[in-house]
This record gives sequence, structure tokens and C-alpha cells, in this order.
Amino acid sequence: MCGIIGYTGPLEADNILLNGLAGLEYRGYDSAGIAYFGNDSKIHLIKTVGKVAALKELVKQESDCSSHCGIGHTRWATHGEPSDVNSHPHSGTRVTIVHNGIIENYMELKDFLISKGRTFLSDTDTEVVAQLLDYKYNGNPLETIDSVMAELKGSFALGIMFKDFPDRVFAVRRESPLIVGVAEGECFIASDVPAILQYTRDYYLLDHDEIVTLSPDGVSFVDEHLDPIEKELQTA
Ligand code: GLU
Repeated sequence: MCGIIGYTGPLEADNILLNGLAGLEYRGYDSAGIAYFGNDSKIHLIKTVGKVAALKELVKQESDCSSHCGIGHTRWATHGEPSDVNSHPHSGTRVTIVHNGIIENYMELKDFLISKGRTFLSDTDTEVVAQLLDYKYNGNPLETIDSVMAELKGSFALGIMFKDFPDRVFAVRRESPLIVGVAEGECFIASDVPAILQYTRDYYLLDHDEIVTLSPDGVSFVDEHLDPIEKELQTA
């Protein structure tokens, strides 16, 4: 089982992502990584095979990883050996994602994308989802996620960042777990509640095929028809 964390809000995102990943280490993993929006409004990736402590060292070496929005991942390899390049996050040109689970029809989707001229860096099923999101991106993240979700078979929790939306994190799940934490002016996604307990005790349970949008103004949920839904706030 891997771990997912995501954050948007006023605090330094790299600290929150690294702390969150450390809180998810008990789930087991072979590599770790983060992606964040830098001050240059670009998405930056730092990832490595090995422990969260090794990732922390790499983050320390970055001259400027000041950011208020990002996603992080501890990987339990299912498709492609544990390696730096197979570690998450994975990207297309305009989209970066972390993924927990297995995309059963990834070969068929990969063949389709290759036939459209796409090339792949890793051996993972996850990169296929990143590239498919990028291929289908129409400027509207929710429509794009919904249309990709309809093509996926298997299990997934996805944390997603679009280059055009620098303070937002999007997430969706089917089978794999994901919760959404909320506090004043900030919100989180995580595979499990303990990863965010030092920041908030208030959270929502994301249900199958629901999509959540995180922004510093709060969270909003839609179902697979993109209809807005209200959810019950839980307290840990
Ligand atoms: N199937 C993906 C991979 O092998 C995700 C594995 C996980 O849940 O960590 O990269």
C-alpha cells in the first residue's frame, strides 16, 4: 500500500508533504516523491527510490522549494521496478499526478497514446493516466478528470495538479482510500487520517468516483456526472 498526501494553504507545502509522507510510512513503500508549484508558477518534481529521509535530503538541497501547494507519494511498486524514474509523481506536459492502486487496462491505453505520438519515461501504469489526462485536457480539470476516469479499469486514488491552476489540488478515488482534511484557509488530501492529524481533525471521506477540488478557499465535491454534492464532515 502506498501513501498519498496533498496540500494547499498558507504554510510551506514541502514541510507538510514530507511530514505527511513520514506519517504514512507504516503502510510500506519503496520510493517517495513530491511535486509543488514553485514561485515561478511551474510544477517542480523531487523524487527518489528509498526512504522519506532520503527525499528530505534532496528537498533540503533545492535552493528554493518555497511553495503553498503540492502533492506527495510513497510508492509500493506494482508496475515497473522501484527506481527514481518510476517513482511518483508522474507528469504530462500540463498535468502532474500521484497514484495509489493498479490500472488494469493501462497497456491498451498506453498503446493508444503511443499511436497518438506520446512517449513515456517510466514503466508505470500511473504515467499512462498522467499522459491520458494531458491528452484529454480541455482547460476544464473536472471535465478532463471525469472523462479519463470513465476509461480507467482497476483501482485508484489520484492526487492531481494542473499547470494552469497553481493553488489547486484535485483528487478522485475508486477502491483505493482517500480522505480530505479541512482547516481555516487550508486543505489536505491523504490516504489516511493520521497523516494530517497534526494540522486538523476535520475531514471528509471521499466516496467512489467522486472528485474533490482543493483550494485555499475550501473544498468542493462533484459526483461522476459533475453534479455538486454535499458531504458530511467527520471529526477524528
Ligand atoms: N501502480 C502504481 C506503480 O506501480 C502505483 C503503486 C502504488 O500504489 O504505490 O507505480
